[in-house]
Amino acid sequence: MVKALEVVSKGISRPLAGSLALEREAILELAQTKECRNLVRIFFMQERAKKRSYAAADAGASVKPVVRAAVIGAGVMGAGIAQWLSSRGLPVLLRDINAEQVARGMASVAQLYHEGAKRHRFTKLEARAGLDRIFPSAAEVSLHNVDLVIEAAVEKMDLKRKIFERLGELAGPDTVLATNTSALSVSEIAAATKSPERVVGVHFFNPVHRMQLVEVVVGRQTRPEVVQRTLRFAQQIGKLPIVVKDSPGFLVNRILMPYLIEAGHLFEAGARAEEIDEAMLEFGMPMGPLRLIDEVGVDVAQHVAEELEAGFGGRLRTPRVLGQMVLAGLLGRKNKRGFYLYNTKHPETNSGLRLFQDQHWAAQLGRGERQNRMVLLMLNEAARCLEEEIVTEPSEVDFGMIMGTGFAPFRGGPLRHGDSLGLEKVVGEMKRLADSGAAYFEPCALLQNMAREGRKFYPEKDERP
Ligand code: NAD
Repeated sequence: MVKALEVVSKGISRPLAGSLALEREAILELAQTKECRNLVRIFFMQERAKKRSYAAADAGASVKPVVRAAVIGAGVMGAGIAQWLSSRGLPVLLRDINAEQVARGMASVAQLYHEGAKRHRFTKLEARAGLDRIFPSAAEVSLHNVDLVIEAAVEKMDLKRKIFERLGELAGPDTVLATNTSALSVSEIAAATKSPERVVGVHFFNPVHRMQLVEVVVGRQTRPEVVQRTLRFAQQIGKLPIVVKDSPGFLVNRILMPYLIEAGHLFEAGARAEEIDEAMLEFGMPMGPLRLIDEVGVDVAQHVAEELEAGFGGRLRTPRVLGQMVLAGLLGRKNKRGFYLYNTKHPETNSGLRLFQDQHWAAQLGRGERQNRMVLLMLNEAARCLEEEIVTEPSEVDFGMIMGTGFAPFRGGPLRHGDSLGLEKVVGEMKRLADSGAAYFEPCALLQNMAREGRKFYPEKDERP
């Protein structure tokens, strides 16, 4: 953008050939930058996701497409998923516990279609036909002829287990049973059915119509053919899937959470909300971490943080401020009160939250230091995901973070960013922070080994797009 303006302002006073030469030079200069190469790589990663197969599945076996689907739970996610599937031509059964909830879900679907038509994504006729492909139901119905059921009910293990036990009985023998859980164990949910081998996670991101990434979560007993069919389904509906291991937070939320948690700690320790958010906007994130917590819902963020804290022992500690905010009824964007107040067009800082800032050390930190703390924790968690084989390749980690969270695309993802910083420097910085009393900055074994051996996540030969 800056370069384009420079070319236009210089070129306007030159003859055509001279201004074209300026443009050519500028393009050649930009095309050779690291940032440009990173952006080109994203294109190739998207193309790869469109064709991805599951290695463990029988490559020769034919994969039956999903022709009929059902969504259980018509809340934010259920309605979003039902709308997306129906817009892609699939008939969808949308089920919730009572007529009121079903009606609320259908109203959300209608609103999504209305907005889509306003933005010329569909014609009014297409929107009408899409809406007509959704069959609302407040009662239990047979799912025998349904190819795929996606459960998107509330995030409670007991409830999900009950739902899956029943789904196992209502569905046909070939129906894939999927859960949209954000952080619960897919294997534990699957164990409630008689056939856990056909249970899989299919984690859509919010808002469904805008987020292209889908995590396909492989439970302990999920059959490879079921994973393959779910992958194909995600591709069939125009999403970009990655396959992840069943582990707390899967890939994206797991890497995102230590970053959000650190933002909460910095806030408790006296840093101002807008300073924390500005530091990360400057880094290239599409939204600051505290604004993001408000968007996700303070209660939801607290719940996911607690799930990960339980899953990873003492390494992560949920910031107290989240619990205090929930008790005070500050739930974020959904009730217009969180780290920011949303009563006006431009959100304002919620100055009442000073009450919850009981330390002051972070008020003294510079912008670079705040940024550093939040970024290093993402990088460390990204390396841990690779270490634990949540995904198999560094590019999948980076792709997941760019597509799932908007991680500064021009930096190429957390692992590519680690390579650019130099892993020796990353490890040195993290050790310095760990030694200063914040033990959770201890770099993982993979990072330490790679730094010691002078290795990179991406070998040098991969430096070109
Ligand atoms: P929500 O509270 O908006 O909706 C949940 C719906 O499930 C409600 O309409 C509720 O009536 C219904 N429900 C409860 N028990 C049911 C049952 N026995 N049968 C059928 N329906 C039942 O929740 P949400 O935000 O849409 O989240 C749904 C799931 O998606 C959760 O597992 C959540 O973790 C996951 N998820 C949420 C987000 C997000 O940003 N909201 C993102 C990704 C995944």
